[in-house]
Amino acid sequence: QGEKTILSIQSFVTHGYVGNKAATFPLQLHGFDVDAINTVSVSNHSGYPIIRGHRMDLQEYETLMEGIRANNFLSSYRYLLTGYINNPEIILKVSETLKELRALREKEGKEVTFFCDTVMGDDGIMYCKPEVIEAYRELIKFADIATPNYYEAGLLSGINITDMESAIKCVDWFHAQGTKTVIIKSFRTKEEPTQLQFLISSIKIQNDDNNKVPATPRRWTGIVPYHEGRYTGTGDLFAASLLAFSHDHPLEIAVGKAMAVLQDTILETRKEGGDGNSSLASRELRVTKSPNILLNPVTVVVVKPM
Ligand code: ATP
Repeated sequence: QGEKTILSIQSFVTHGYVGNKAATFPLQLHGFDVDAINTVSVSNHSGYPIIRGHRMDLQEYETLMEGIRANNFLSSYRYLLTGYINNPEIILKVSETLKELRALREKEGKEVTFFCDTVMGDDGIMYCKPEVIEAYRELIKFADIATPNYYEAGLLSGINITDMESAIKCVDWFHAQGTKTVIIKSFRTKEEPTQLQFLISSIKIQNDDNNKVPATPRRWTGIVPYHEGRYTGTGDLFAASLLAFSHDHPLEIAVGKAMAVLQDTILETRKEGGDGNSSLASRELRVTKSPNILLNPVTVVVVKPM
């Protein structure tokens, strides 16, 4: 079965379900030990008119890491998962944490898989500092699996995703930087506005005298129905579910299951009054309502090879 241990670096909100609040419960249900670093500890997500709380700075990150290191917790993490950080110094520091973690585990002959969700914004609206883009361009080089939304993928690569052709150009940009697997979680095209497409692209990268030599990527795609309205925390629940399912399933199966979890959870949220026109509070994802769907989603999402 392997170790189910994660260091999860994401936001914490008192009310609602984003960041570690959205990711921890599903991962725990799947049997994972989730050690969380809360990059912010705030009252609610930033969509609400008022937000109060605390943001971690680099020094606080380093202090926490000191404790984790000194007690020998670090080498126990089979997975590293990052979400909302919004601090370029911490984002750059995470690549050092990853290097340290890899080195420690390599000595014991153990693997590390790094899931990097490049949380920066949504649908043309950036909710992070501009310097964060440059920092993520560094961090994604070391990602085993990056899960940008179409807007974040565009911010990083400079390629505007409007269709499958531009999405493919964009994932190839990620591979050229060193990212092994990229999942553009959703994009809408003019032709099919009622559905969301996704693209998975995966490559084996061999290091050859410091030149990264990419082989031919394997790609898959699929669609899910678009539900009118903006939901927050969807990307965080997706990344957590993907990590959980990928522990015992091949990548494309895990993506299909994680997509299905999102469909079921959004449908559940709508059933409980959280449709596209409802208040922000009503649209908080119902993460705890039906634990079964987090483990065994009802919706079937077909993932086709390209
Ligand atoms: P990030 O955390 O990277 O900022 P995000 O939440 O913006 O991510 P999305 O691609 O919008 O990422 O959402 C993640 C997944 O949630 C999508 O792949 C899709 O399956 C599902 N999803 C999100 N919003 C909707 C919606 N309105 N209708 C249907 N599915 C949705």
